[in-house]
Amino acid sequence: MQIVVCVKQVPDTSKVTWSKDNNLVREGMISILNPYDEFAISCALEIKKKFKNVVINVISMGPNQAKEVLEYALARGCDRAILLSDKKFAASDTLATGTILAAGIKKFIPDFDLILCGQFAIDGDTAQTGATISSILNVPLVSYVDKIVNADKNMAIVKQAYEAGDWISKVQNPSVVCVLGKETKKQLRVGNYVRAQDLGIETYGFSDLDLKPDEVGILGSPTYVKRAFRLEYNREKQEITENVAEFLCKLAKGEKNG
Ligand code: FAD
Repeated sequence: MQIVVCVKQVPDTSKVTWSKDNNLVREGMISILNPYDEFAISCALEIKKKFKNVVINVISMGPNQAKEVLEYALARGCDRAILLSDKKFAASDTLATGTILAAGIKKFIPDFDLILCGQFAIDGDTAQTGATISSILNVPLVSYVDKIVNADKNMAIVKQAYEAGDWISKVQNPSVVCVLGKETKKQLRVGNYVRAQDLGIETYGFSDLDLKPDEVGILGSPTYVKRAFRLEYNREKQEITENVAEFLCKLAKGEKNG
């Protein structure tokens, strides 16, 4: 069984600082593996524990620095790491990012059975990449999965967490599953990193993929950022002493200030 885990290196947004003119201060910013992708790796490793002949491929689109998270994924127990990196990929929006990742998977892991993505990346936060990959590769998509109950070459049984309750779904493989759990970095031993170094990271660029120049980077990105701003909250704390439901009804009718 071939599992693919899409992993993204992101700035540690829990330590973000802003300049006076509302720009992100990137200097000295620490990069981490997206916490949802950390969980996706754990899900893949769980499947590998249960079954024989499971190969876990990790793939990332990003700059050379993204090798750090790929090496870490190998150290955690993944088997193969692929970095898709090229100056032509810079300024890719979610459509171009999904297009590049789908092309990389098709070319280098053509016999994939299950693609795992995080539900969100904590920086871009669009939750569109997994859906884009599934649509390009023409395979089913299941989102908001907080547990992979079982998975093999033919199907995956997953638990989805919705506000209304939990759902158990069965999906035919190959498929894309976006996982909702978040995990933090694991402490690994030196031996784990030695294994990672022995395995190495495969790196491919634009010319290795079957894509046209207008499908990647700025040319392949119909999205543009019109304005970036920080939300300012200036509401004062209120103590609610009456029935909360009644309070919210009055608030909706405009009879109260929230
Ligand atoms: P989500 O869709 O929220 O991520 C969900 C999951 O998809 C992740 O958990 C992970 O499993 C997978 N995933 C997402 N991205 C990757 C990846 N790169 N590799 C592997 N797996 C991934 N970003 C830059 O770094 N450099 C730029 O120059 C740049 N230019 C941009 C220009 C525009 C106009 C826009 C709109 C965005 C730009 N971005 C750039 C941001 C970039 O497009 C997004 O970060 C990327 O498309 C992923 O979207 P997301 O962060 O919302 O991920």
